[in-house]
Formats: sequence, structure tokens, C-alpha cells
Amino acid sequence: MNIENNISNLKNSIPDYVDIVAVSKTKPVNDLIKAYRAGQRIFGENKVQEMVAKFEKLPKDIEWHMIGHVQTNKVKYMASFVNTIHSVDSHKLLKEIQKQAFKNNRKIKCLIQIRIANEDTKFGIEPSELNDYLNFSKTLPNVKITGLMGMASFTDDQNQIRNEFRMLSNLYDDFSDLKALSMGMSNDYKIGIEEGSTMIRIGSKIFGERNF
Ligand SMILES: *Cc1c(COP(=O)(O)O)cnc(C)c1O
Repeated sequence: MNIENNISNLKNSIPDYVDIVAVSKTKPVNDLIKAYRAGQRIFGENKVQEMVAKFEKLPKDIEWHMIGHVQTNKVKYMASFVNTIHSVDSHKLLKEIQKQAFKNNRKIKCLIQIRIANEDTKFGIEPSELNDYLNFSKTLPNVKITGLMGMASFTDDQNQIRNEFRMLSNLYDDFSDLKALSMGMSNDYKIGIEEGSTMIRIGSKIFGERNF
């Protein structure tokens, strides 16, 4: 297991226009430094506190992406530096991001998380609600909705994964202002890219399996 090799193999296997979010949750700072030295600049975390702690220890040209479900009361801790929040799924959260981004005199990029999986454990809004979210966000000057995020069902059925991604990709194509489609993880990023992903969120394929 070699983080540098994992990153270069991954890069060489995908189109140039696809951004890699290196999902470093639960991994020690040393692992992130190895990835940074290999040229990686986009890191994804799913817990605000953990992301803040790593932000403080690492070079400041890193783009930090929040990929996990965000509690409204945690937004303030990351508002000064977070680049993109992938997991926006409520008006309440959008309002809080607006408030905290304004306080920090910044614009925070957000992706709307769409529920595409069959499982009811997954977060996200219904596709039919997207238009309403995009209109609402136009009233929030410090929020910029740049795209969509979705997670496919946890299944071995490649066809099901493909169908879920295709549904998200079709929705994305309906809105020409959107520039980012965050779709695909270690086990399904190839299907994600085939179905139109512009941003993949890769953890175990870069950093190895997580123990918890
Ligand atoms: C953990 C996580 C990933 C990365 O998962 P891997 O299977 O390790 O690549 C991607 N997206 C989200 C939202 C995650 O929580």
C-alpha cells in the first residue's frame, strides 16, 4: 500500500477533467501529507471537527471539501476555510451557510445532495425539489450552488448503481449553470465517470481500508 502510487495510478486511469477528492476521514495527518506531496490538493472529510483539526496542521493551499452530513450548529467552525460542502440537503442548512459565509466575507460553494439510492438511510433531497433549492439559493449572496452530489445504493448490482447515477446525471444535465457532478467512490467511480461524473470522492483506493 503506497499512497503516492495509488494517487498516480488513479489519475492515470481517469479523464483529466475529473477532479479527485481524496477522502481522508479517520486517516492520520501523515497520510494526508503523503498525498499532498504526491500533488493532491483536494481533501474530503465527513466530520467538521476532524476537518478543522487537519486544516490547522496542513498547508493552506489545500481545498477542503465537506462530504458528510452537516449539522447546522457546526457550520460556523468550518465557514472560514471550507471550499465546497457536498451534502446540502435542507433550506435550514443553506440559510446557516449563508449566515456564516457572510460573517467571514466569503462565498461558499455547495452541492445539493440528491437522494438516488433505494435505501432510506441515505441523506439528500428528492429530485423534484431541486428547482426550489436552486431558486432559494439565488436569494443567498454568499452561497454558490455549483453542482450535485449523490451516493448510489450499497450493492453489488452494477446495473442498479448505473441506473441511479444515470438518473442523477440526467437531472444535472437539465441545469446548465451547474458545473460539478460529485458521483462515484472507490467501488463505483468507474461507473460514475461513464455516467458523467466530474468529481469522484475516493477514500480506500487512495489511503487503504478504514478500520472503523
Ligand atoms: C467515506 C466516503 C467516501 C469514500 O469512500 P471509499 O469507498 O473509501 O472511497 C465517499 N463519499 C462519502 C460521502 C463518504 O462518506
